Amino acid sequence: MTGHLDGMQVQCFKVGAFDVNAYVVTDPSTGASAIIDTGETRELIQRIQALPQVPDIRMILLTHTHLDHAGALAYLQEVWDVPTYMPKDDKPLFVTLPMQGTMFGMPQLNRPCGRIDHEIEDGFTVQLGETTLRFLATPGHTPGQGCWHDDTDIVVGDTLFAGSIGRTDFPLSSPAQAVESLRRLCSLPPELRVWSGHGPMTTIGRELATNPFLGYLRRERGITGPPGLRWAPGT
Ligand SMILES: [Zn+2]
Repeated sequence: MTGHLDGMQVQCFKVGAFDVNAYVVTDPSTGASAIIDTGETRELIQRIQALPQVPDIRMILLTHTHLDHAGALAYLQEVWDVPTYMPKDDKPLFVTLPMQGTMFGMPQLNRPCGRIDHEIEDGFTVQLGETTLRFLATPGHTPGQGCWHDDTDIVVGDTLFAGSIGRTDFPLSSPAQAVESLRRLCSLPPELRVWSGHGPMTTIGRELATNPFLGYLRRERGITGPPGLRWAPGT
């Protein structure tokens, strides 16, 4: 069963050189907590340890393995030696972490890979206290890009942003997959709170109504709103 009527607690930490949003999500009944995404520096560790009530970190979950989302994994594991879950299809990207800084023109940000305990796929669930977290695969931005959610909140990495979507022009990206993934993501309840890898919180319903990259979904579903951009075949 899935958690509480008001869902898991979500704390957002904007960290590192890329202003990435890393998250701590907490089961309200037990206090069991998970870190979702890491930043690429030790800033997240310092920010969590400075909280008035330091959360009981039970696991580390990744949405995808770009440097800004997974680069600090090895640092975090020095502090929290907990099970770590990565989308299986992101493995080809994950193994490039020691070179990703160089690929983005910032060799000083090359990072060790850290340890992966579980390579997971679409539909996988993990139990955090009394909260069930489900993994929704939304490939496109990266091969394994995915989202972690309960019934009220979803942490989407770089799948969807308030008013935008994740880039699909990286070497391992696929615009065609992103088109289909956004269609799936936006089939979730409109009131679901969306916590993105960059920028502010939004909801599925708000993005469906206004996001310029989701015009094709509005047309398919007869939702009034701006016609939107053509950014991939079928949009
Ligand atoms: Zn990314």
